[in-house]
Amino acid sequence: MLNTSRSHALLERARAVIPGGVNSPVRAFAAVGGEPPFMARGEGPWMFDVDGNRYLDLIGSWGPLILGHAHPAVVEAVGKAMALGASFGCPTEGEVLFAEELCAAHPSLEQVRLCSSGSEATMHAIRLARGATGRDSIVKIDGCFHGAHDAVLVAAGSGVATFARPGSPGIPQAVADLTRTAPFNDLDTVRAQLERGDIAAVILEAVAGNMGCIAPAPGYLQGLRELTRAHGALLIIDEVMTGFRLARGGACERFDIDADLVCLGKIVGGGLPLAAFGGRAELMGRLSPVGPVYQAGTLSGNPLAVAAGRATLALLSDELYLRLEEIGAQVEAGLRPLVEARGLSMVRVGSMFTVYFRSQAPADFEQVKGCDLEAFGRFHRAALEEGIYLPPSQFEAAFLPAILRDEDVAFLIAGLGRAMERALG
Ligand SMILES: *Cc1c(COP(=O)(O)O)cnc(C)c1O
Repeated sequence: MLNTSRSHALLERARAVIPGGVNSPVRAFAAVGGEPPFMARGEGPWMFDVDGNRYLDLIGSWGPLILGHAHPAVVEAVGKAMALGASFGCPTEGEVLFAEELCAAHPSLEQVRLCSSGSEATMHAIRLARGATGRDSIVKIDGCFHGAHDAVLVAAGSGVATFARPGSPGIPQAVADLTRTAPFNDLDTVRAQLERGDIAAVILEAVAGNMGCIAPAPGYLQGLRELTRAHGALLIIDEVMTGFRLARGGACERFDIDADLVCLGKIVGGGLPLAAFGGRAELMGRLSPVGPVYQAGTLSGNPLAVAAGRATLALLSDELYLRLEEIGAQVEAGLRPLVEARGLSMVRVGSMFTVYFRSQAPADFEQVKGCDLEAFGRFHRAALEEGIYLPPSQFEAAFLPAILRDEDVAFLIAGLGRAMERALG
């Protein structure tokens, strides 16, 4: 058993002043049982809690930390930026260079607007789509997560699924009614929604990472592209998780998708609060101050976040993506036989993966809900004792950082193998 006495004491205090003791619900471990360790510091692929326990980190702050914790280049860049002033609320050179870098990296971006969270990025992209098309409804795919705002908190996977609520009290029915849903990998339902003629946009994660990791079926993304185009709706690919992870140009590059609008976050902020949305110049030109669609943010393009983002992107070389693919393949080669021998399944796309407590790999949200969630909880707790920090929910993908060494990969495979055995034993 891990010694977690200091974490336990902090959790007690936290619960008095923060609802549930956490600032984002899944951190509380409600889906897996037990108490969350409080983290003290990170170094490369490792996190250390306040009791001195060490964990190989497979959440990477829920996606951003493709270079691991406290990468020296990122630390240095943020320190330098801080010394020059944390925020101005005025334009800066760094924002321009960063926007140029994002547009050069992603195939669907001619212009971007920076903001501070993925939730903001999808909220603004949806408003822009509504403003541009003059239509009010959107189609959202079941189990995809686009942040915690009203329009998208319907059948939203991960946190919401973990707490078994279809949406959330506090979202007006009139607002929820404007969000139609369709299962992942199902084109017929989307077609039927689009035929009503009032859909501004279809929004989805091209590789779902908020209901475990689910890959798009062959033809699904292309089908959505053709259907949206035929019905005058926009295709919004939410790459907050997949952007700069599945390739430099995200899922759009990896699957050759031509999105109308793209949302970025997580990796682009290098661990600081930063996100972006963008698309063709003609569409982005409808945003204020050029066009009539309003969008704003006090800390948008914050110099510290831009510095962290630019330092991170500068290290994302072709060699790094090759290494990341190699790490993903090594993990899969080691884990898949262990998973299948125990009657479980696994999905991996690049450096994202999920072990499912279900014999067949799921293709949509309904199938993920059929997993043995109790067994997943035991797996999670056993992995922690092995020094491996998995996402604390069956509905979340694990992320591999590009800095894992071969011995770290071996540690991961052996530890998860034993954890699986204990979960099922
Ligand atoms: C994390 C995530 C978001 C929300 O980003 P925040 O920065 O937490 O607001 C949106 N979309 C996807 C696909 C995500 O994974």
